[in-house]
Amino acid sequence: IGYMIEPIQRMTHMSTQLQEGVTGFQRFMEIMKLKPSIASKPDAAVLARVNGDIEFRRVSFHYEDRKTHVLNDLSLRIRPGEYVALVGPSGAGKTTLCSLIPRFYDATAGEVRLDGTDVRDLELESLRKNIGIVQQDVYLFAGTVMENLRYGNPAATDEEIIAAAVKANAHEFIMGLPQGYRSEIGQRGVKLSGGQKQRLSIARVFLKNPPIVIMDEATSALDNESEDIVKRSLESLAEGRTTIVIAHRLSTIRGAQRILVLTEDGLAEEGTHDELIARGGVYAQLYAKQF
Ligand code: ADP
Ligand code: MG
Repeated sequence: IGYMIEPIQRMTHMSTQLQEGVTGFQRFMEIMKLKPSIASKPDAAVLARVNGDIEFRRVSFHYEDRKTHVLNDLSLRIRPGEYVALVGPSGAGKTTLCSLIPRFYDATAGEVRLDGTDVRDLELESLRKNIGIVQQDVYLFAGTVMENLRYGNPAATDEEIIAAAVKANAHEFIMGLPQGYRSEIGQRGVKLSGGQKQRLSIARVFLKNPPIVIMDEATSALDNESEDIVKRSLESLAEGRTTIVIAHRLSTIRGAQRILVLTEDGLAEEGTHDELIARGGVYAQLYAKQF
């Protein structure tokens, strides 16, 4: 019977991770491939709500199947409540860097610290409860709008879910659906636009209410009109939280307090938009290319 129990245990474990509000299908696929080495230590500390102080100390990382480092001896610090943008060419390692915070992967050298503690010493579920992720692909399942939103926090009441949808600028369009929050979505249900789906995923994160938010190319697949409203939802989600925004379109990150420029050679520059433009380096070149 052992051969059956093990995969079931793995699936149960997986579904808890999903309920923590990891929203994208891509992440879902990643979690399915997760190495068993990523688990809580027996004596791991259960984390309460963190302040959101993130520190990378001389972090190196490479994927198992590749020998070259994606991140090499990288150090950076993000302060509680700070709004930081991470930019750089595709393949530079922006997504990889962010995936080390909720421990989708572990650093191969160095350490990632949250409020001063190595993330590997923290109980995994409590670590991930502190982190919300909005990414390009939104994972919705067949079910009602209400059920899909509740996925952000299974214990939420209907009132809390509606309040989260209001904050995410989703309430109005949901009320416009034939059966409001009871409308079925998915293949046989109502069709939603990319911007509407993204606002549902943002509402899930509002519901989860984590002190840390990672936005990974969250508006990249949207047209200008829906990008606008989604951007406003993301801005209000960022309020009062430590926020890391990864954006390909540099227009979306002009308001960032600090911009970190990651290239294949590591962290190339950091500063505000104006500082980096004045510097005339990698960021200024990327910016000139887009405008
Ligand atoms: P970015 O987000 O800046 O575009 P990524 O972090 O996605 O960059 O990727 C950095 C590098 O790691 C790329 O060379 C990419 O091909 C590689 N990579 C990303 N994910 C994986 C994976 N799951 N397995 C192996 N290599 C990967
Ligand atoms: Mg990426």
